[in-house]
Amino acid sequence: MNTNKNVPPTIFVIFGGTGDLNSRKLAPALYNLFLDGWLPEQFAIIGTGRSELNDDAFRERLLGDINEFSRTGKVKAKTWDGFAPHVYYQQADVKTAASYKEFGQRIKALEQEWGTMPNVIYYLAVAPEFFPVIATNLAKSDLATDPERTRIVIEKPFGHDLDTARELNRLLAQHFEERQIYRIDHYLGKETVQNIMAFRFANAILEPLWNRNYIEHVQISVTEDIGVGDRAGYYDTSGALRDMIQNHLLQLLCLVAMEPPVDFTADEVRNRKVDVLRAMRRFSPDDVRESAVRGQYAPGWMQGQEVPGYREEKNANPQSNTETFAAVKFFVDNWRWQGVPFYLRTGKRLHRKASVITIQFKEPPHFIFPREATENLRHNRLVISIQPEESIRLQMQAKRPGVDMLLNTVDMVFDYEGTYTVEAPEAYETLLLDTMLGDQTLFMRGDQVEAAWELVMPILTSWQNRTSQNFPNYSADSWGPESAEALIARDGFHWFTLPLHAKK
Ligand code: NAP
Repeated sequence: MNTNKNVPPTIFVIFGGTGDLNSRKLAPALYNLFLDGWLPEQFAIIGTGRSELNDDAFRERLLGDINEFSRTGKVKAKTWDGFAPHVYYQQADVKTAASYKEFGQRIKALEQEWGTMPNVIYYLAVAPEFFPVIATNLAKSDLATDPERTRIVIEKPFGHDLDTARELNRLLAQHFEERQIYRIDHYLGKETVQNIMAFRFANAILEPLWNRNYIEHVQISVTEDIGVGDRAGYYDTSGALRDMIQNHLLQLLCLVAMEPPVDFTADEVRNRKVDVLRAMRRFSPDDVRESAVRGQYAPGWMQGQEVPGYREEKNANPQSNTETFAAVKFFVDNWRWQGVPFYLRTGKRLHRKASVITIQFKEPPHFIFPREATENLRHNRLVISIQPEESIRLQMQAKRPGVDMLLNTVDMVFDYEGTYTVEAPEAYETLLLDTMLGDQTLFMRGDQVEAAWELVMPILTSWQNRTSQNFPNYSADSWGPESAEALIARDGFHWFTLPLHAKK
């Protein structure tokens, strides 16, 4: 198996090694990095949890997970024999100081065996209530004293609101330097999301059009067809605004709206994103009523199956006021974007799963064609599809073949599947490799997280203080509540959905 000489010897300590995130995402990602030769010769994964397992039992468990969830399919015996000896398990309760002594001993033993001082990455794949105790115990046990070699990865959610996010940032800052802290928003690791920057800043033709003079409005829509399943216990404390808009959708907005960074370094890129968040218009309570819409799904049918409403899901509160749908109209008050609305929407149990950014351009200033030629005329649109289709489409007007002059909308398409034969890595593969390389570009800086919380707080507070009178207010397999249609229709637009046949 090839190894990577650019990545230093690395030990991954995965808190929550027996959990769902490690099973479905982290372990398959690390295995695929190994398979593709991205891992160094000297690497170790130490999984932890309270479950009683030994190294072999943990390896068996990961093998089953990787077989089930890896994008590269079932593991080959020879590759597994190369990978498995790098995997260890240590039973530990994160609240117990003695556990950290044992981690220290494991790490020391590997250092001696390898004859070198490796980088150590502590990955916190545990419930957020454990983030502070783990960070504090790592520091108290002197396991994270060297900022050059030790890093801490924090999963989402980063805080429950602005105050708790600030508190967590403060606590982390007591024990770690910012360059050691990797706050994950896995959306930022997706190929199509990374491509937004490549597309915007490596093509000269876009920049002159990328502003209020040519762009009429922007839509960012992340829809899911599934309900909350058995996560209602957690989801009821969160909701669509916290779970999706505060992080993933606002990060997408930043990528669309940011100014060109001076270079592609972590701080430059993140500075430009923070600029966007700081320029975004704040909401007064009246603005919230005007510009933000919430919804909750009712029982219904999806693809011939009867499905429960949110309040009937397992562990859900039957009177829950939690939104499973949110749509918000934002403005970025700066020279580039003044007056251009950004409509963001997300929700569960909607008609289709899709993440799409649509940039709608203004109409041509003057039509030279007769009315009948332009019956099907649409505005130019740039449609960036993140999932499940991975593509960028530019919708233009063209003459339909025939003797008369009839205009039609046609798509110029860049489609990943048709363009490249290599399979794209999963977001977690990119992010884990970046963590090993010490590249924070695709991770959230502390001030970025706080700026995003600041922006959504008035909406959260207003919704918390006003119990919704009409929940549930949208049916399964729909596109959300009628009020979301009205939000955008008031400005003369409608939500854009990529046709199903768009994917070839
Ligand atoms: P999970 O399946 O409930 O796993 C929780 C893990 O924490 C288990 O490995 C559990 O191990 C361990 N744990 C709990 N209490 C512990 C203690 N006192 N000491 C030591 N270990 C303890 O949770 P998850 O879904 O993997 O989520 C983990 C984190 O990732 C959460 O912050 C979540 O928000 C975030 N996240 C998850 C996903 C996902 O797809 N699952 C996606 C995005 C973000 P034992 O049971 O063996 O003790």
